[in-house]
Amino acid sequence: MTTPTVTLAPGATSTTVPGTGVSAELAASFDLSRVLDDTMGAGSRLSASRTALERAAGSDVFGWLAHVRSAAGCSNPIRLCGTVDRIDAGSGELLARQSTADMPDGVIYKSCGNRRSSVCPHCAEVYRRDAFQLIRAGMVGGKGIDPSVAAHPAVFATFTAGSFGLVHTRRIAKSGKPIPCRPRRNPDVCSHGIALACNDIHDKGSHLLGTPLCLDCYDYDGQAVFNVQASELWRRTTIAVNRYLTRLARRAGTHLRVRATCCKVAEMQVRGVVHFHAVIRLDGYHPDAKDVTLPPPSELDVIDLADAIHHAAVTVGFTTEEHPDNPDGWRLAWGEQVDVRPIQVRGDQEITDSLVAGYFAKYSTKSTEATGHVSRRLNGETVDLYANEHGTHTERLIDACWRLGRHPAWARLRRWAHMLGFGGHFLTKSRRYSVTFRILRDNRVTWRRTTDDTPAADTDGETTLIVGTLTYAGTGWHTLGDAMLANTSADLARSRALVGREEVAHELSAR
Ligand SMILES: [Zn+2]
Ligand SMILES: [Zn+2]
Ligand SMILES: [Zn+2]
Repeated sequence: MTTPTVTLAPGATSTTVPGTGVSAELAASFDLSRVLDDTMGAGSRLSASRTALERAAGSDVFGWLAHVRSAAGCSNPIRLCGTVDRIDAGSGELLARQSTADMPDGVIYKSCGNRRSSVCPHCAEVYRRDAFQLIRAGMVGGKGIDPSVAAHPAVFATFTAGSFGLVHTRRIAKSGKPIPCRPRRNPDVCSHGIALACNDIHDKGSHLLGTPLCLDCYDYDGQAVFNVQASELWRRTTIAVNRYLTRLARRAGTHLRVRATCCKVAEMQVRGVVHFHAVIRLDGYHPDAKDVTLPPPSELDVIDLADAIHHAAVTVGFTTEEHPDNPDGWRLAWGEQVDVRPIQVRGDQEITDSLVAGYFAKYSTKSTEATGHVSRRLNGETVDLYANEHGTHTERLIDACWRLGRHPAWARLRRWAHMLGFGGHFLTKSRRYSVTFRILRDNRVTWRRTTDDTPAADTDGETTLIVGTLTYAGTGWHTLGDAMLANTSADLARSRALVGREEVAHELSAR
């Protein structure tokens, strides 16, 4: 395996400790037993404190902390071993070679990069901030996106699946008061003898929310199929939106072409079905220069964009291929609750863009947590722990994924059973909507490299290529003590950065 290692390359001499502040603060304010009491049970506490003390008493703990710095906040870093070469970009000459064997622990630590906060809070937070920047740049410009996009008509739209059976919900009256879930004086009774009514007012965190009134009536197959095909339904929807807009532009006789560009986030509802939130922007372009985003022609406005989306949401649908359990295939379409709201970026810029982007980015670090189900990919041995055709709501849904996924054409359902069938990306965007995660990551690396106390040879990155030949050596910290030391120092660095930012803000506001 060959991995480019720009993000990982440590300081060539780990004896120069970047940020000696870390050491001073760590020594002065580090209360080992308190941190351990807060974070771990008594059993692991002993082992963590012993291994942390061993590390701390070792020859060069601060060199080690500097070495692990780029991954220090990560819960489950990846360890890589091999060599890192510095190559002159012009001549191709090898300037220097470093082996991880000469580094602390004989490996390089790299953040796991996981998006899910239940897996790694630190990496999820980095992802969330990137997601926020990406969505924001598409709304108001910045990060290389022209600020004129802020004046384009744009909407915030939510696409939801239809019903797969009656579920308990938290209902709020227009007055803002919560009201009973499903009150009925003479309720219908299903074929399983269950009254289809519920007079309870459910609390926000109630475990009943999203679960069916009758588990046996619920269409688990239909929901599993919707989840696995939702991305395809979305793809067809965006095509339909663009066709509609193109027709409008042609009818208006504009010389410019139009297209909808968007960024969407998938959210798992508590009932275990995916739904999509999207920022959709109306752009213009010239047929001879498709890559240049222009303001849309004045003949089209935000109402036309909303019409196009409503039209697509109502008309788009398709029937899946057949399955032994359903020879006719399943009919897929959006439910009736497609919500489209204009985004006003001009007048009220600060509030609107940060509100919408913040609302949007919070989903990026979640997946199936809302349903109470969190697991890694399932296989034939582990599936029985989570799937049960007579079990809870989620167990029945995973069972449906696994059972339908037995057919080769539907194998994706098994592959994504741990995601309740949804195998799409949680954040996707049209190519021209905004910057990419890649650009944001590269910016961060550049920033890190220029703010590091690294020797001069490291900082002329324009002319020097850094090429790593690294192989996977393992996952995770070696000991609980290592994890604690690294995470604590990352916390200290984070709070120091926060204090710095606050001081700058204070200075600016005092002027
Ligand atoms: Zn991580
Ligand atoms: Zn209820
Ligand atoms: Zn029933």
